[in-house]
Amino acid sequence: MNAPPVPYRGRFAPTPSGPLHFGSIVAAAGSFLDARAHGGAWHLRIDDLDPPRTVPGAADAIITTLDRFGFQWDGPVVRQSARTLAYATALQSLAARAHVYRCTCSRTEIARSGLPGIEGPRYPGTCRGGPSHPGRTAARRLDVRDVTVTFEDRLQGAVTQSLEAAIGGCVLQRADGVLASLLACAVDDADAGFTHVVRGADLLASTPRQIHLQRLLGYPTPAYSTWSRPTPPVSKLSKQTRAAPVDDRTCPTLLQVLVFRTGTTRGMDRWFARRSVGLGHSRVAHGPRHIVRIPAPALTGRGTRVCRTAATQSFPDSALLLCEPP
Ligand SMILES: [Zn+2]
Repeated sequence: MNAPPVPYRGRFAPTPSGPLHFGSIVAAAGSFLDARAHGGAWHLRIDDLDPPRTVPGAADAIITTLDRFGFQWDGPVVRQSARTLAYATALQSLAARAHVYRCTCSRTEIARSGLPGIEGPRYPGTCRGGPSHPGRTAARRLDVRDVTVTFEDRLQGAVTQSLEAAIGGCVLQRADGVLASLLACAVDDADAGFTHVVRGADLLASTPRQIHLQRLLGYPTPAYSTWSRPTPPVSKLSKQTRAAPVDDRTCPTLLQVLVFRTGTTRGMDRWFARRSVGLGHSRVAHGPRHIVRIPAPALTGRGTRVCRTAATQSFPDSALLLCEPP
């Protein structure tokens, strides 16, 4: 007898370092639509673990904006700042099994090693045998020697990465005591039972270390969907708008999201021209894996909200986004 399928549970986890920008709405829409297209739950988590990066009031502003756009999440909003005990317990369990070592290297010392990694100089492993400066406050690093991770991304296919060659050793707790989001996400995703993670290309490189950590902690690995970097001319749109805070015009913004995600403005050009939202350049990018369609008659103007999504039979991975007036 086959086991019953695990229900889809997805999430969006913004960092409250400022107001939601266009790129965040793209990420929210991607995970939201995928969850709803699969009849799944979609949860909201605020990744506010790093005090210097957390701007007072930003979390509430993000929640208000998401609500205004019509994103409806399931269950209560989880804040990572309230869960540090769970992360510390996980760190302890890794330390007890010697997967973690204390590191007192400064950023300059690591850079001086000159070993190339995917995010700048990789950690050369100086403190694996003991802290190089015993007098300094230590960070805690995950030992990744001889670790190669292979996983299947739903959109990118097979991904293989040697963690040693890519990063050399990941910080799980900084010298100032702040726990790394890598650790917090592993714990949170497992505790919440998230089955799917949908996110942008910038996070693909850190997924292997996330998976390695899940395996060490005995957690299941969710299905990852990482969408590709946008192709020109969509990347032009992204540069112009990605970092800008989202404005009140929810419908034009959501349409821009769709262009960003699908690489096409098929059928939307005339609408854009009429509404003057600055999307005159359009080209169909080949092979979008996520297809989001808007029925033209539903595009009725300002204040439009995402109010319903449904899977379409012909594209199992697609979602139908209906925009309707509030
Ligand atoms: Zn070190």
